[in-house]
Amino acid sequence: MSEDILTVKNLETDYSLDNGGFVRAIRSLNVELQKGETLALVGESGSGKSTLALSIMRLIDKPNKIADGEIILHDSDGDTSILELGENALRRIRWKKISMVFQSAMNILNPVMRIEDQFIDTFEAHSMPGDYSDRIDKYLTIAGLGTKVRRLYPHQLSGGMKQRVSIALALSCEPEILIADEPTTALDVVVQREILFELKQLKTSLNLSIIFITHDLSVASAVADRIGIFYAGRLVEIGRKNDVIAKPGHPYAKLLLGSIVTLSTERGKNLSSLEGSPPDLSKEIIGCSFYDRCPSRVKQCLSYDLYPVEVGDNHYVECLRAKELLESTV
Ligand code: ADP
Ligand code: MG
Repeated sequence: MSEDILTVKNLETDYSLDNGGFVRAIRSLNVELQKGETLALVGESGSGKSTLALSIMRLIDKPNKIADGEIILHDSDGDTSILELGENALRRIRWKKISMVFQSAMNILNPVMRIEDQFIDTFEAHSMPGDYSDRIDKYLTIAGLGTKVRRLYPHQLSGGMKQRVSIALALSCEPEILIADEPTTALDVVVQREILFELKQLKTSLNLSIIFITHDLSVASAVADRIGIFYAGRLVEIGRKNDVIAKPGHPYAKLLLGSIVTLSTERGKNLSSLEGSPPDLSKEIIGCSFYDRCPSRVKQCLSYDLYPVEVGDNHYVECLRAKELLESTV
């Protein structure tokens, strides 16, 4: 039985709109991160992946808000309800227990500060004990960089090196959980592959649990132990990587997988395409949010209360027809 390190329960996160309405970017979302695993969250742009990461880090600021739900960290200090923490208590958790590499993190480095000063700033902000100099060298090395980098400014580094610096920074407060939001999306394929390989090694050597966010299923399958598929603010499927890839249960996951398989095998031919667009998240959605685009839809999907159907060992699919559709493809 694997142990969970983080539990997200019934989370709902809203962005407020100028017209007084709001976008519900995360919708009744439930997910657990198991200790020592890499959970890859995959979904198209706008599906809410970054919003989930920012919600876990409590970086959703007014007027936007986490409208409902719970986020619980389970560690050696017991259970901590992250959404109930005051600022001081939050500071003890953020970066030190749960750290994040932001989407396009390499652009967030301060252009007028040497790399080492960016580390020192982080350590001072979090009152880290110990020798800062040793720590900087250690984490630059861990992220695959030479220690000479510490004297350089961001503009003197390549995109891949900057991204490595942001990974080193995220790891330097020695967190237990790392959330990496599209950490390799802006990089060329070779550098991307190297960084993914290194993250895999780091997970083991630093005993990390990782939430890895990507829009690219092939990247997810390279790094993940489990894969979760996001659609319109919900997790529509989750399971062990091989189960989700070999036997996707949700029609959306099938289409996503179909598009990479056909792309790599029969270039240009029979590309399973996803027609239409995701639903408007500023409106209430009744029934399944994939209904309009779903090739397997039936009328009941609109009246059906969404819940995850267990289709295999630790494999859950939020689709009324999941079992029936899986049986029809075997
Ligand atoms: P992803 O990371 O999967 O691309 P996001 O979490 O960034 O998705 O966005 C989820 C939804 O929330 C999208 O519909 C997006 O337009 C909306 N959204 C994100 N940030 C804001 C914001 N600051 N204000 C209003 N809507 C936002
Ligand atoms: Mg994003």
